[in-house]
Order: sequence, then structure tokens, then C-alpha cells
Amino acid sequence: ISEKSQHYLALEEQYGAHNYHPLPVVLDRGEGVYLWDVDGKRYYDFLSGYSAVNQGHCHPKIIATLIEQAKKLTLTSRAFHNDLLGEYSQYITSYFGYDKVLPMNTGVEAVETALKLCRRWAYMVKGVPENKAKIIVCANNFHGRTLNIISFSTDPSARNNFGPFMPGYEVIPYNSLTALEQALQDKNVAGFLVEPIQGEAGVMVPDEGYLSKAKQYCQDANVLFIADEIQTGLARTGKMLACDHENVRPDILILGKALSGGTLPVSAVLADDEIMLTIKPGEHGSTYGGNPLACKVAITSLQVLKDEHMAENATAMGQLLRNGLQQLSSPYITTVRGKGLLNAIVIQHKDPEAAWDLCLTLKENGLLAKPTHGDKIRFAPPLSINATQIADCVQIIQKSMEAA
Ligand code: PLP
Repeated sequence: ISEKSQHYLALEEQYGAHNYHPLPVVLDRGEGVYLWDVDGKRYYDFLSGYSAVNQGHCHPKIIATLIEQAKKLTLTSRAFHNDLLGEYSQYITSYFGYDKVLPMNTGVEAVETALKLCRRWAYMVKGVPENKAKIIVCANNFHGRTLNIISFSTDPSARNNFGPFMPGYEVIPYNSLTALEQALQDKNVAGFLVEPIQGEAGVMVPDEGYLSKAKQYCQDANVLFIADEIQTGLARTGKMLACDHENVRPDILILGKALSGGTLPVSAVLADDEIMLTIKPGEHGSTYGGNPLACKVAITSLQVLKDEHMAENATAMGQLLRNGLQQLSSPYITTVRGKGLLNAIVIQHKDPEAAWDLCLTLKENGLLAKPTHGDKIRFAPPLSINATQIADCVQIIQKSMEAA
């Protein structure tokens, strides 16, 4: 890597906490499906900021909205009203079909909010005895990094030496309806928190029918079905929500990431009144949650997804990408899986560093992707990618595999 890049790497290394292990590439510009490094080299972005940049980098409409609103009003706090929170709340609730929205900033804050709402509902509506509410979650989940949420992580690297942990969760295997059925027998179960496709776990797509049956089981047991669509939502998998593939309407819907098209931390929790109104003034909040800049940017980000038919394009381009990947003649790719433009390959190689090394080669050849859990590589470009670009990317991947 260049001396210039080395300079930025050294600064981060010396002055920044060491809680990430990025690919050695230093970026300073993005447009659509492309990123450029500080030396002017162009790459396809196959991570999209972990699906925060579904609309493509620096989408002109989103950036225009951002700039325009930034000049006018950015933050009032919720101590006062602003002229955009109501408009945004109406927009997003009718977009997804819920009574109410609770705005937050990062994804993990929205998950925390959903869990608080679920416990509130358990005590105030369902009638679970005080402090007995239980929430069912899935093994290999990823819902963020707060102490509460890592309390039910099954990933040792997320948990080690961070204890003691929060009680009130039960972990069951993902994609197991029998395990869910069994766990739901406990009358104190308040909710079931699930990723419709497990993203960080390596794009684990559950069996067809899993989500719709899980929702039905929850409904029968008077338990809230809580969907974390932070990574799978907003057109990424070929539908506005991954739950839409099975016509499942979550009781609590959690969104984040692409809600701002990669410009600001904007997250949201959607639910109906019976759930949402269990939290009263002063009982939950966030300084930046619902700020006018975020509200305006979120409206445009949602509009762009629909106006530019990004869900439909994700379906078509995803199919092309998986077809291309399946035809690659590499002995090292054991699996190609995904839905829409949320995809992954699994690498089997005697060298445990093979997936990392492949990502370095991909980078050399002009495509940025990052391994997850050692042997899996996610392929999730912005949803604006076209067929020519997909073909180009498959060629880059083919060429890079040949070097492995
Ligand atoms: N939930 C899911 C499914 C995610 O993929 C992520 C981030 O990768 C989060 C929650 C956490 O979001 P954030 O990093 O914005 O807190």
C-alpha cells in the first residue's frame, strides 16, 4: 500500500482504540457503487457500510436534502417541537403501516428501545409478574454492542470480560421452530427478537416458512414478534422488508442503517399504540433522536428507495450475482447464498487466513469486501448497481479466486 495510505493507517493505529481490524485501504470519496482511495484508485463497494448505503454513496437527492436542512435547523432536542418530526412520523408510519414511530440514532439504540417496549408491554398489557419478563433470542445473533445486547450474544469475542450480564433472555437455535415452540411454553415470555436473515453471522437465510410460522406461534402464545431489520430491511433483500417475503408483519419493527442512506446515524422503532403508548413522557429518549436533520434525510432516503425501484433491482441483480458466483470454477467456494443483494460466499481452504487474503486480492483488483467470522465473505453492493457492473464484479472475483 502507498506511503500516503500508510500515513493514515499509522495515525489510526497510534491514536485510535484498537477495536476494529479494517482492510488496509484508505478511502476519501464515494459515488454510487464506487469508492476511491487517497491515491485515486477506484473500487466497487461490496459492503455498502454494512448495508447502510443501500441508495449508493452520496446519493445526490439525499445529499441535497442534508445540505438544505443543515443550513436551516439541525437539532432542537425533544424539549421543544420541530416542524419535521410530525411530518416524518406520518411519512414513515404510513410507509410501513404502523400506528407510531419512536426515533433513535444508532441501530443498537433502536434494539434497546424495542426490548424496553417489549418488557413494558409484558407488564402493562400482557400481565407478566414484575421483573419476570423473558425475551427469546437466537444463537449467533447480532443486534449491536451495548452491555444489555451482548448479554444475549453467543459470540465469545463480543462477550469475554464484559460481564456481569443482563438477565431475562433465553437463547434458542436460529431457524428452529421446535425450539421456539418449546421456549414459548413459558407464560412469562414477552417477545421473540429475530433477524429475518442473520447478517453478521454470515448471511444465514432461514428455511422458507420459518418467519411466517414463528410469527404465528408468537401470536398464538400472545408474544411479540420483534424483527431486527436494521441490516435486512430497506430493499436490501429484494423487498422493502425481509419479512415481506413471507408476508409477516412484525409487532415491533426495528430499522436503522440505510434509513439515512449512509449520511447520519438514524434508527427507528415502529409499533402500534397498544405497545408504543406503554412508554410515557420522561421514561425513554435520546438527545438526537427525532432531530429535524435526521427526519428530513430519512424521508428522502425512503423516497429514493421507492422512486428508484431499488427492491426490484436488488432482486434482479442479486439473481445475476449469485448465478455468476455459482459458475465460478473455484474449489474453495463451498457455498453461495443470500437474498436480493445480501449475499455471502463461504471459503474452505487449508489456510485459515484464506478469506482475508482473498479480500486483499479483491482489493488489489478493485473490489472491497470484508470477511466475517473468518471464512465467510459478504457481497452486498449498493442497490443501484447495474448488470454491466455485476458482470464486471464477477470477473474481478473470478480473477481473484484464481490467485488463491
Ligand atoms: N442489528 C443488526 C441486525 C445489525 O446488523 C447491526 C449492525 O451491524 C445492528 C443491529 C447494530 O447497529 P449499530 O451498529 O448502528 O448500532
